Amino acid sequence: MFNVPEDKFSGLYKRPPEERLAAIASECGLSSDEMAVLRAGGLTIAEADLMRENVIGLYSLPLSVATGFRINGKDYLIPMVGEEPSVVAGASKVAKMAREFGGFTAVSTEPVMIGEISLLKPDPDVAVTVAAHKQDLLKVMNELAPTMSARGGGPRDVWAREYACAHGRCAVVYFSVDVRDAMGANTVNRIAEGLAPAITSLVGGKVVMRILTNLSVKRISRARAQFTDDPEMAKGILFAQSFAENDIFRAVTHNKGIMNGISALALATGNDTRAVEAGAHGYAAYSSFYRPLTKYYIEDGKLIGEIELPLALGTVGSGTSHKAARICLDKILKVKSSQELCNIAAALGLAQNFAAIRALTQEGINKGHMRLHSKTLALMAGATLDEAVRIYEHFRNYDGEVTMSAIKHALDELRKVRR
Ligand code: NAD
Repeated sequence: MFNVPEDKFSGLYKRPPEERLAAIASECGLSSDEMAVLRAGGLTIAEADLMRENVIGLYSLPLSVATGFRINGKDYLIPMVGEEPSVVAGASKVAKMAREFGGFTAVSTEPVMIGEISLLKPDPDVAVTVAAHKQDLLKVMNELAPTMSARGGGPRDVWAREYACAHGRCAVVYFSVDVRDAMGANTVNRIAEGLAPAITSLVGGKVVMRILTNLSVKRISRARAQFTDDPEMAKGILFAQSFAENDIFRAVTHNKGIMNGISALALATGNDTRAVEAGAHGYAAYSSFYRPLTKYYIEDGKLIGEIELPLALGTVGSGTSHKAARICLDKILKVKSSQELCNIAAALGLAQNFAAIRALTQEGINKGHMRLHSKTLALMAGATLDEAVRIYEHFRNYDGEVTMSAIKHALDELRKVRR
């Protein structure tokens, strides 16, 4: 029923890093200069000094690719940056499972961001006045973002809310803007600052703040996949889902698992990880109580997973001009728009969540995690790189507990044999 082509990169994990890079380079058409950028991390000190203040050095993290993803009928290699083991392996494993059932479907709304102008002690009836002058205000906003409008984006709406607080009467004037392929924070902030005088001339009051909200509820992505027809596995996943729906302590960790994937992709593509994380957790609590961002259910005997969350990921602007990020966006992902990138992020988040709860409800997460972590533990115990690789080989199929003392013991044994 599901006539899906085989994943060309199945087994990539078995090859050494240089061979993996060569395989990705050949698939994605990377030049030798681009391969060198990825090997070295993509930034020189001089470039870093242009990005941030008080730069004293560079700080590297592993760049990996998750394999096997089929999203909306297209195959993707997904670049991921992060320090945590098991994450890329988990995503790739689940991508393969979903692939057997046709892969993921994903959809993202238009990339509409929301800005806020916060006012203290305005005249009464701010919401009514703003509604009455909506067209004039949209015209002002259009003049503040002419390039966005020319791209088919631009201002969409303006509205207000009033409330009373300890400081007196307050109002927030909200506006929405389609920011096309940008994350949009600077664009929205520029409009907020430019629009504020027009607002106070209408409703008075003191402007306290003018900035976007990271709770981008008008920029929503959804993904869906079928994962298994094994009733035992499905049962475990449904139990886990139920605990996440009824226990906030579990729900937060459930959602953290989602962000293991999404933040790693955000980082690889030069996006603002904190903005995406804030939006996701805010959305989880948007319906008044904190809830899991994924849900699982049985349909025709098959386990289906779905995710819904706000994603403000750009393919242009700010951090996306980092050389390695551009290679990830243009060559490895080959994404054409912010919406396509957000579709991939949603599918990845769903896969990552499924990987985590599948491991948790089966063998437990720690065993696999610690086996992969054995290389890091070996380095912490004073192993050389070569020794760390051997220690990892030793623990890869190990059934016992991988603790620091087990690692130290294995290192001692290895050194005895080599003496
Ligand atoms: P940006 O300022 O670089 O703006 C995007 C630029 O890309 C604009 O100049 C736009 O004209 C141009 N562009 C070219 N082609 C485009 C296309 N197809 N679609 C849209 N724009 C196109 O970046 P931004 O996205 O406005 O802001 C993102 C940055 O703002 C991030 O670095 C983020 O960390 C930072 N920031 C975040 C917050 C927050 O999240 N609370 C607050 C302030 C700043």
